[in-house]
Amino acid sequence: MANDDCLFCKILAGDIPADVIYESDTAIAFRDINPQAPTHVLIIPRKHIATINDIGEDDQAIVGSLYSAARTIAAEEGFSEEGYRAVMNCNEGAGQTVFHIHLHLLGGRPFSWPPG
Ligand code: 5GP
Ligand code: ZN
Repeated sequence: MANDDCLFCKILAGDIPADVIYESDTAIAFRDINPQAPTHVLIIPRKHIATINDIGEDDQAIVGSLYSAARTIAAEEGFSEEGYRAVMNCNEGAGQTVFHIHLHLLGGRPFSWPPG
């Protein structure tokens, strides 16, 4: 299931250190190494799925669990009510650089729309 060439699979395996703040049966979350907001967390499935395009019908509970994690972490970080951004980039054209799906959870500052 793990991809030997995948940075986030290596984080999941404990081979590369990360500041992990949340773990469930299906997902983990850790702080982004280059934060774009006061809180910037990456929520990833334990299963290696390269892009949104690779999400299968059987993966719906896994993907849903990423949003459950976002809700929980937003509450813990204290910005549930003021608002936050949860976004997933798909492929190079949208800025995806790590090909193991991850929900960016950003909070602690105002966000404009549309994004760049
Ligand atoms: P993408 O551009 O694929 O949507 O997001 C990848 C994210 O992973 C970026 O925000 C980047 O800062 C983060 N990132 C890349 N390498 C590492 C790493 O080794 N550790 C952590 N914690 N984040 C990383
Ligand atoms: Zn992976």
